[in-house]
Amino acid sequence: MSTVASAVERDRLRIAIQKSGRLSEPARALLASAGLSWQESRDRLFCFGVSLPVDLLLVRDDDIPGLIADGVCDLGIVGRNVLLEQAGERAERGQPAVFRELRALGFGGCRLSIAVPDGWDWQGPAQLAGKRIATTYPNQLRAWLRVQQVEADIVVLNGSVEIAPRLGQADAICDLVSSGATLAANQLKPVLDIVRSEAVLAGPVQPFGDARAELVDLMLRRMDGVLRIRDSKLLLFQASRAAVESVMRLLPDAEPPTMCAVDGGETLALQALCHGAMTWQRLEDLKRAGARGLMVLPVEQMLA
Ligand code: ATP
Ligand code: ZN
Repeated sequence: MSTVASAVERDRLRIAIQKSGRLSEPARALLASAGLSWQESRDRLFCFGVSLPVDLLLVRDDDIPGLIADGVCDLGIVGRNVLLEQAGERAERGQPAVFRELRALGFGGCRLSIAVPDGWDWQGPAQLAGKRIATTYPNQLRAWLRVQQVEADIVVLNGSVEIAPRLGQADAICDLVSSGATLAANQLKPVLDIVRSEAVLAGPVQPFGDARAELVDLMLRRMDGVLRIRDSKLLLFQASRAAVESVMRLLPDAEPPTMCAVDGGETLALQALCHGAMTWQRLEDLKRAGARGLMVLPVEQMLA
C-alpha cells in the first residue's frame, strides 16, 4: 500500500522543524552543519532551500507527525515524546504506522516521567492502581500502565499538568521533566521515567519512489557525519612503543589510531579520533601514561 507521502511526486525535499521553541535553534544549526542554506520568506513559515533542493517548513512541533503522515512534508525534527504519542494515538485508532524515527539527534533531551506528591512514600507502579494521573501524553501513559498491569484513571489535560494534584484534579502526573525544577516548585517528585526523549529525525515508513529518495540518503549521510563528530576531537601525540598500550587503554572512546614510527622506530607518532569529551584531567592522565606532545584538534567535517 502506498502512503500519501509517496503518492505525490516531488523533486524537492521538505523538512518540517519547530517554528519557535526549544528545538528550533538546534534543529536549524544541525541542518546548517549538514550543508543546507535557505532563503527566508517574509512570513517565515517556508524557507526555500538554496544550497540543495531541500526546503524548510516552520510549524508547531505537534503538527510535524501529521504533516509527514499527510505527505505535506517529507522529514521532520521533533521530540520522540511527540512522535511516540501520535504513533500511539494512530495505533489506538487502528490506523497503520506511517511515520517513524530515522535518527536520534542528541539534543532536546528530557524524560516523560511519573511524578507524585512529595509526601508520598513511593513503593512502585502498583501504588498507582485506582489513582488519577494527569497528563498530556495519554497514549504513552496508557501503554506503560498496560505493561505494568496497573489500572489507573488517565486525566487528559492540555497544559499545566504539574498543578493538577494541587487543584485536586489528579493524584499524580505524567509529564516531561528535564531539570525537575518545575516539579519541585509544585511539591512533586519524579519517581520513574517511562520514556527517555530527545529530538529525532522523523520520516515516513514507506520509502520515496522519486528524486526525494536520493535527497533523504544524502541528508542522512551528512547528518550522520555531523552527529559522529559532534563531541569528537582529533588527538595527536607521541609515545614510546612500550607505552602505547597503556595510553590507548585510557582512550576507550577512540577509533583505532593511525601510527607511524619516528626516531628510528622506538617512538611512535599517533593520531586518534576520540568521541568523548577531552578534559584537562584526561590529558594529564594520558601524559602520566607516557603520551608526549599532546595536541587536541577540533574536527569540522567527516565523511565516512
Ligand atoms: P509549540 O509551540 O511548537 O507547540 P511547545 O510548547 O509544544 O511548542 P517546547 O516547550 O518548545 O514545545 O518543547 C519542544 C520539545 O522540547 C518537547 O516536545 C520535548 O521533546 C523537548 N523538551 C526538552 N526539555 C523539555 C522540558 N523540560 N519540557 C518540555 N519539553 C522539553
Ligand atoms: Zn507543542
